[in-house]
Formats: sequence, C-alpha cells, structure tokens
Amino acid sequence: MIRVGVNGYGTIGKRVADAVDAQPDMELIGVAKTQPNFEAHTAVQRGYSMYAAIPERMPLFSEAGIDVEGAVDEMVADADVVVDCTPSGIGEKNKALYESHDTPAIFQGGEDADIGDVSFVARANYDDALGADYVRAVSCNTTGLSRIIAPLEEEYGVEKVRATLVRRGGDPGQNSRGPINDILPDPIHIPSHHGPDVRTIFPELKIDTLGLKVPATLMHVHSLNVTLEDDVTAAHVRQLLEEESRVFVISEGMGIDGAGKLKDFAHDAGRPRGDLWENCVWGESIAVEGRDMYLFQAIHQESDVIPENVDAIRAMTESASKADSVATTDEYLGVGI
Ligand code: NAD
Repeated sequence: MIRVGVNGYGTIGKRVADAVDAQPDMELIGVAKTQPNFEAHTAVQRGYSMYAAIPERMPLFSEAGIDVEGAVDEMVADADVVVDCTPSGIGEKNKALYESHDTPAIFQGGEDADIGDVSFVARANYDDALGADYVRAVSCNTTGLSRIIAPLEEEYGVEKVRATLVRRGGDPGQNSRGPINDILPDPIHIPSHHGPDVRTIFPELKIDTLGLKVPATLMHVHSLNVTLEDDVTAAHVRQLLEEESRVFVISEGMGIDGAGKLKDFAHDAGRPRGDLWENCVWGESIAVEGRDMYLFQAIHQESDVIPENVDAIRAMTESASKADSVATTDEYLGVGI
C-alpha cells in the first residue's frame, strides 16, 4: 500500500483525499488542516486522521471537538507521498518540509512550474514522472487542454493551437471573487499565461491562449481551434475523443446546452459533490474546415485534476504502468460517462 498524506484540505485537497481513500493500492494516512472549520468536521466524519498544519493551533481543534493525531511534520514523516493542496505559493514554502523528511510530494497548478521535476498530465506524460520526487499536477485549464491535444497530436500531428478560455470568476465557496456583473478580458494582455503552461507538458507545441472571466462559479468553457497536420473529418475527431476515458463527448440528444445542465447531470448521476472529472466536449460543436478543427468544451475546475493527482502518486512510486494506473484510478473513482 502506498501511504499518502494530504496537506491542505480545501477544494482540491478534500477531493484528492477521497480519491486516494477509494484506491485499492493506497492508504490515506491523514489530512493536515490549518483550522477546525466545517471541512475539518466532515474529514473526521469520513474517518480521516487529522493533523495540525500549524502546530500552535492544536488546542483550537480540541476546543472544536476534533482529535488531532499530531503536527503536519509527523504526517509528512510517515507518508510515502504527500499531496500538497495548499493555496498558490504556500506549496513552495512547504517544499522544505518535504525535503527535510525525504518525502516525495505533488504540488498543484497554482505553483510555479519549476517547483517540481516535472509538470504532469497522465494522458500526455505519465512516464516523465516515473520515480520523480517532486511533481506539479498542472492547473484545471492546462489539464483540460492537454487531454485534447495529446490524442490529436498522436493521431494527426498538431501544427498550432488557439484557445479562448472563458473562466469562472471563482469557485462556489469563494465569495470574495468576481466579477459579479461584468465580462473581463483576464489577463487583458494577449496571449495569456495558459499557453506557456501547456508548453510545460508539450514543450514544442505552438499555442496561443486568450482568457476572460465571467460571473459564474460552475465551470470554465473553452473555445478551441487546432490546426492539424493532416486533413481530418469531424466524425473521425469525434470518434477519437469518444475513445478517451477522461473526455465525455456530450451527445446531441442529452439536451445539455451549458455548464448548468452539465452540473445538474452530474448531481442527478450521483457524482460526489457534483464533480465532473472528465473534459465535457459538446459533440455537435466538433467541426472541421480543411485542417482546422474547432470545438467547445467545459472543464469542471474543482475536479478535473483529481484523477491526475492519483496517477502522479503511482508514477512517482513506480508502482504501475500508465495504462494500469489510469484504468485503476478511473475504476475506483468512477471516471467515465
Ligand atoms: P483552497 O483555498 O480551496 O484550499 C486550500 C486549503 O489549504 C485551505 O483549506 C487552506 O486553509 C489550507 N491552507 C492554507 N495554508 C496552509 C498551510 N500552510 N498548510 C496546510 N494547509 C493550508 O484552494 P484550492 O482551490 O483547493 O487550491 C489549491 C491548489 O490547487 C492551488 O495551487 C490552486 O491553484 C490549485 N487548483 C485549484 C483549482 C480550483 O479551481 N479550485 C483547480 C486546479 C488547481
């Protein structure tokens, strides 16, 4: 069993913890939190051992009726791999803690690319993370773009990617984010930073990205144009994407015309927290003009990176091949529609 600790138990951390707990070859040894808030209480209800991310705050947990196993560095010392799910920039500060215990760690997409030996999306570069000590699971948008680019690159060759990312203003719980009533070019300069981030996965790729932010919390939506090296048909691209386990091609008859209905669908299907781990590509949007392929896809920012974190654990511990890891993660998490 691979012993895994999760440091930072917010939007991403609580999902990573559940996903690790569900795997047959992993043991969740605990989660570390800074404060005994509602998420700490539900972690305890789920039977997860609690560690204090800030040791001086241990009494606050006791006062809130939460038993603490110890301080975060005990969890780090005991783990084979730590998944750092703290806010952007905190992971970098935590790296010294992991190094001091010789514990390999996974960081999230909010950290700079150079925090890890490799930036990771299982579909594109699983093998690059074999045996690595420090890996960065890239952002939700980079993960979503990479899962489409990888099969297109393999099947047809990619000449150039142009993507416009319509980004949610914040996650549902982030009530200080916005805009509330505006449509913001964000970042206002073109191209945005997303393209260079995708190049941490595909170093040779030509890609330009543009970003906007809108008053929504549900999902991001990408408008994607990929110029391919071969002539293709829309039907062939669709078939290719339908074969991808982490791409959900929405069929015309489902009546899903936006992110709202996608989230309804996920809740109705009994998905935990209404999560959509897959890229959600509108089948009828897949269009081809010569060598130019177009599509719209929705990306559930809170959950698409979760299966990638699980696969990164297996790659770093060299405990499974890419195909076996992806299949196991998908089976035990429930990925695939
Ligand atoms: P979050 O704020 O929801 O959760 C972070 C958690 O870490 C919070 O519970 C916070 O209290 C805790 N924390 C703060 N300082 C800590 C410390 N020193 N030690 C331990 N815990 C600490 O943030 P999030 O949305 O889960 O983002 C985490 C990382 O994942 C970031 O790098 C982010 O860029 C990345 N990411 C976020 C999303 C998303 O849409 N939310 C998607 C993909 C990647």
